[in-house]
Amino acid sequence: MDGLLAQFLPTPDLAVLLVNDPLYGGAGGSLLIASRSASAPEIVRNEAGHALAGLGDEYEGAYPGYPDIEEPNTTRETRPEFIKWKAWIAPATPLPTPPTAAYQDAVGLFEGAHYHETGWYRPKLDCKMRTLGMPFCEVCQEALMKSIFARVSPIDAQIPAAPAAAAFAGHTLRFALDLVQPQTHSLLVSWLTNGVQALRSTNSQFSLAAAALGPGQHTVRALAADPTAWVRHDPSNLLQRAVSWTVQVETAELRLQPLAVSGGSFSVFGPGANVVVIEAADVLPHWRPVLTNRLVDGRMTFSDATPWTSLQRFYRAVMPDLPQP
Ligand SMILES: [Zn+2]
Repeated sequence: MDGLLAQFLPTPDLAVLLVNDPLYGGAGGSLLIASRSASAPEIVRNEAGHALAGLGDEYEGAYPGYPDIEEPNTTRETRPEFIKWKAWIAPATPLPTPPTAAYQDAVGLFEGAHYHETGWYRPKLDCKMRTLGMPFCEVCQEALMKSIFARVSPIDAQIPAAPAAAAFAGHTLRFALDLVQPQTHSLLVSWLTNGVQALRSTNSQFSLAAAALGPGQHTVRALAADPTAWVRHDPSNLLQRAVSWTVQVETAELRLQPLAVSGGSFSVFGPGANVVVIEAADVLPHWRPVLTNRLVDGRMTFSDATPWTSLQRFYRAVMPDLPQP
């Protein structure tokens, strides 16, 4: 089986061996096994709980020799403050929790789990890790969410893709994330400049004036997080992922030469191969673009061929914003 996987699918998310036999049966572990009995889909869900989230079985049936290792949903701990799923337990719920109808919807500490009738506890009266056909309990659901986020980033791509960018002070900087959005709600995105939060919303785009950062090196960081109510305890921050960019802001100056022209011919000097727009106005401040061109080795020459209708004409050179991602 391992050999077949290595040959045909070397990096599976979850390997499932379906046995072509109607007899009920299944097994978990690193490899998930199920037959084609009517219960197979539920067995696969239960076994995926083992394989994906490392969940334990919440039933008592003896399993001689099985190691006494606690899982996210099984424990021997009875001290309230040390129960790993305490975030889900309401203050009024008695611990251990009586296995009665009054507590069938409560998360508590129910005795009987991990192949033991006594001494081991589970979070809920019933759960898919105890009875096929039941939904996963809150604690198992949380463990599954975290196990998925441990494998998959909610950020598919950062735009611009390059983590370093240079900009001139007159530019607007634009950043965006390509997010894997949940079906039921939107991810929350925090945008930070130099470690200070500038925006926190569901907006996957962020723009700011490079001039606001000032000249020098800056960091723009985006943090995407899933605010799902299904996870209450995430000490490793698995539900959030961050990307960042380093931005070098340079003060850019354009120079015109000569400053007073006759006949509408002059040169523009500026940084590198930047795009420059020449604008003209016969009456101030009615500027209109007359030429967009790229500097060559920091220089560009312009000659105005349009007829003059006024006594004088003003020119200016402008560096436009970078194109939007
Ligand atoms: Zn459970």
